[in-house]
Amino acid sequence: MSPESTSYVVELRAVTKVHAGDVHALRGVDLTIADGELLAIVGPSGSGKSTMLHMIGTLDRPTGGTVRIGGQDVAELSDRELSALRGRTLGFVFQQFHLAPGVSALDNVADGLLYTGTPRRLRRERAAAALERVGLGHRLGHRPHQLSGGEQQRVAVARAVAGDPRLLLADEPTGNLDSGAGAEVLGVLGDLHAAGTTIAVITHDMEIAASCPRRVRLRDGHIVEDDPGPRIGEEMKGVRE
Ligand code: ADP
Ligand code: MG
Repeated sequence: MSPESTSYVVELRAVTKVHAGDVHALRGVDLTIADGELLAIVGPSGSGKSTMLHMIGTLDRPTGGTVRIGGQDVAELSDRELSALRGRTLGFVFQQFHLAPGVSALDNVADGLLYTGTPRRLRRERAAAALERVGLGHRLGHRPHQLSGGEQQRVAVARAVAGDPRLLLADEPTGNLDSGAGAEVLGVLGDLHAAGTTIAVITHDMEIAASCPRRVRLRDGHIVEDDPGPRIGEEMKGVRE
């Protein structure tokens, strides 16, 4: 790996993805994400947002081009090495919460750390700390059906960050929530970013997108806009209502 590439969490170079049925979901995408960024990925339905997130998340391999995560070319890794990299480096939140029913919030989060080999007591300590971070320190024993949608998604966010990933990936995390609950979840993402977590979030919500420091817009499998937002030292643009 080249030294200059290690400073990026994510580097996509000329990434293409052709899905079954000859669907060209990504048609040559270049993207870098640096530590500490919060970026919104926007674009119409079918433009390739989720496919790009799957490439970044190493959940699927590209048809062409290069995906580097933490400087590591993922094409050089076996499936086993890839899942280790994913477990160490990445956290995921999806539109569906994917919580285990009948299992407490604490154990839903703690079980997400099983693969790390962390002893049970430490897993539960870390899970409790992560739930504190998302404002659910008072809901540790609640099971998913005893929580609101917004609370369930915050449990999912806690699970995603409990292992302290270098990058949090979220695909329409507020898509199943009403606006109040969506705002809660976004507030949590904003807090995590302020505390140092690097976050890429796919969203349809223009207000959310406008509040992110950087917006990447996809259309027909191309990045058609990459707005880095205000630069350090320049006047901050106000968040549009
Ligand atoms: P978005 O998230 O922006 O809505 P997607 O990345 O999900 O877009 O999809 C981009 C295109 O690829 C769409 O035409 C979609 O139907 C297609 N697609 C996505 N996933 C698959 C798949 N697993 N198999 C076949 N086609 C897919
Ligand atoms: Mg999608």
